[in-house]
Amino acid sequence: MTTSDYRKVFKQLKSKPIKLKKYLKHNKPKKRNTGIAKKKCQRCGRARGHIDKYGLDICRHCFRDISTKIGFKKYN
Ligand SMILES: [Zn+2]
Repeated sequence: MTTSDYRKVFKQLKSKPIKLKKYLKHNKPKKRNTGIAKKKCQRCGRARGHIDKYGLDICRHCFRDISTKIGFKKYN
């Protein structure tokens, strides 16, 4: 199961209502108010590699793509 959406399994469990009920009881993710699990990339939705610094709110992959466009410069 990916972290992107836990509801992907519903399609498979549609024919097994009791298993679906059990799945929801034990595997449904908690609603988060704070913390690292709530942060997602604003550009692509990735949960990992998040950059909050300078108010960017994007992941490291998107940062690599758009860093030069938003004014960052790479020093070698
Ligand atoms: Zn991203």
